[in-house]
Amino acid sequence: MVTGGNRGIGLAIARSFAAAGADVIITHRSGTPPEGLRGVLCDVTETESVDRAFTEAEELLGRPIEVLVANAGITKDTLMMRMSDDDFSSVLETNLTGAFRCARRASKGMMRMRKGRIILISSVVGLYGSPGQTNYAASKSALVGLARSITRELGGRGITANVVAPGFIETEMTAELSDDLRKQYLSGIPAGRFATPEEVAGAVRFLAGPDGGYISGAVIPVDGGLGMGH
Ligand code: NDP
Repeated sequence: MVTGGNRGIGLAIARSFAAAGADVIITHRSGTPPEGLRGVLCDVTETESVDRAFTEAEELLGRPIEVLVANAGITKDTLMMRMSDDDFSSVLETNLTGAFRCARRASKGMMRMRKGRIILISSVVGLYGSPGQTNYAASKSALVGLARSITRELGGRGITANVVAPGFIETEMTAELSDDLRKQYLSGIPAGRFATPEEVAGAVRFLAGPDGGYISGAVIPVDGGLGMGH
């Protein structure tokens, strides 16, 4: 189950799992799912919507969700001085509380199966910080505490929880950044380039696959070295 799997990084993750032969369900907020993928409607800011989406997904699959990729996320960038309470709380509500709601609901079935993988899509910004993104960075760094606490609660039940922290990835979200910010990021990336969504998908699939079974509570950067040391 990939939340926000209708576009961007989430879609690349979903397609990557599907290409590997997995039964993938994406969540989308409106319209129809992308071609070739099954989807359920879900707004991660509403508990009822999350619960309904998981129930529908489990019916479609005929079994509980084994791998959750909590990918849905938003930005509402502005300098802290100008940031409204709503700018701050709405980003937390989607990026952090939304991931919590999905992880909590997914864990029900995972506990019954005594296996599961929870992968939270954070950002290099969570630990690196970024001017104009106090709300976003706070939401993304909190995912580390979420994953590590899930690991301590559920690690003994065959469930892992990890964070993937992408750097600068070419998607609609980053297309909105100013040219100045793009240049600034590029100058700090040892790899000297931005990443593709597929490169994030590779790390997610590794954590979800057989080789990732003993990795939990980890933060896996996919950032070309941008945030290293943090
Ligand atoms: P996009 O803006 O392209 O896609 C965001 C996805 O999240 C969309 O599917 C969107 O649905 C969904 N979404 C937003 N709000 C909600 C909600 N309330 N309920 C359900 N779904 C929701 O973003 P990216 O693909 O770039 O980013 C994906 C994730 O990766 C995010 O968590 C982002 O923070 C993170 N990330 C991105 C980076 C980048 O460089 N792009 C870098 C680091 C992290 P809809 O289509 O309906 O709007």
